[in-house]
Amino acid sequence: MSEHIAQPTNINLINSSFLIGTPILAATSLVYYSMNYGISWFEPVIFFFFYFASGLSITAGYHRLFSHRTHKGEWPLRLFYALFGAAAFQNSAIKWCSDHRRHHLKTDEDEDPYSVTDGFVWAHIGWVMVDQGDEIVEHVEDLQADKILAWQDRHIFLIGFLVGIVLPGLVGFALLGNIHGLLGGMIYGGFLRVVVVHHATFLINSAAHTWGTQPYSTANTSKDSPLLSFFTFGEGYHNFHHTFQADYRNGHRWYHWDPSKWLIQTASWFGLTKDLHKIPDKSIESRRMKATFERKVEGQYIESDYQEKLSDCVSQLRKGFTDLMERRKEFKQAKKSKKQQSKSSWKSMKEAHRNRIKQCKMKIAEARNEFKILMKSLKDKRTNKPASA
Ligand SMILES: [Zn+2]
Ligand SMILES: [Zn+2]
Repeated sequence: MSEHIAQPTNINLINSSFLIGTPILAATSLVYYSMNYGISWFEPVIFFFFYFASGLSITAGYHRLFSHRTHKGEWPLRLFYALFGAAAFQNSAIKWCSDHRRHHLKTDEDEDPYSVTDGFVWAHIGWVMVDQGDEIVEHVEDLQADKILAWQDRHIFLIGFLVGIVLPGLVGFALLGNIHGLLGGMIYGGFLRVVVVHHATFLINSAAHTWGTQPYSTANTSKDSPLLSFFTFGEGYHNFHHTFQADYRNGHRWYHWDPSKWLIQTASWFGLTKDLHKIPDKSIESRRMKATFERKVEGQYIESDYQEKLSDCVSQLRKGFTDLMERRKEFKQAKKSKKQQSKSSWKSMKEAHRNRIKQCKMKIAEARNEFKILMKSLKDKRTNKPASA
C-alpha cells in the first residue's frame, strides 16, 4: 500500500479540508447553538428529515438505481436523488457510480478505489483524501446520457450547498420564523447531518468489508452484518449484495432491516419505480448451500460422493422452489374461476391445491434436511467419528 501513503504532494486539499473541517464546524456550532437555544422538537425533526433524504438518495439512488440498475426510476425520483444526493457531499452520481462499478469489478484488487486490503482507514476515508493520479470516469455512459445526472454533474457543488446547507436553514426559518430556526436548520439539517451521513456511508466500504459473516461467497472481503444495516440504510448485507448485485434488495428477507429496499418498494406503488429485480429464492439458497459446503471442506481432500450429495441437495431444492412457484400460480388462476363453481366443488379444489403446495414445501424441507445431514457427516469425517448418516 506504499502508493497510498499520504505525501504533501498527493493530499487532496479540498476533500481533506472538507472531511476534517465539517466535524469541527458541526461540533463548535453545536456547542454555541446549544448554549443559546437548547434543544426542542425542531432539531431532531430537521436532522432526521435531511438525514434520510440524503442518505437514502445515496443508497437507494446512487447505489441501487444508478450504479447497479436494479430497477427503473421515473424522472421525479431521479431528480430527488440528484438534489439530495448532492446534499450528501459525496460527489456527483456519475463519478460516485464510476468508482462504485470499479469497486465491484475489481473488489480487493489494486484497481479497487477503496479496497479494504489497503487498510480500514484507507477504505473508510483515506481514498477520498489522497489523490490517486488522474480521475478515472469510466463505464458510466448510460448515466452520462441521463440529462438530470449530467446536469447534476456540472453543478454538483452549487446544488450540494443550496440543498444541503441553505435549504435546511430556510426550512428552519420558515418553521420557527427567526434566526434560531435558520441556525438550527443549518446546523442540524446541514453540518451535523453531513458528517453523520458521510461516516454512515463510509462504513459500507470499511466495516462491511471487515466485520460480519460470509454466507454466500468468500471470493472477496464483503461481509453481512445486520447491525451495520441499522446505520447504513440497509446496506449492511454486503456479502449478499456483492454476490447478487442485480437485486434491488440487500436484506432479502422481509424482516431484514433495509429502508432502501422499502423505499424502492413503496415508490413502485406510486409508479415512481418499476421492474424491480429480485434474485429467485432458489438461487439465493442454493448459493448459500454451496458456500457453506465450500467453507466446510476448505483445504481438505473430499471424496466425490460428498460433492454428488451436495449436487443432489441443490437440484432437489431448486426443483422444490420451481414447483412451488408453479403450484402457487395455478392456485391463483383457480381462484379467478371460484365464482363459477359450487361451494362444495371449490372447497375440494382448494384443498387439492393446498395439498400440492404443501408437498412442494415438504420437498424443500427435505432438501434442507439432507443438506444438514451432509454437513454433519462432513463434520464427523473431520473429527474421524463414524458418520451417522
Ligand atoms: Zn454495490
Ligand atoms: Zn463492497
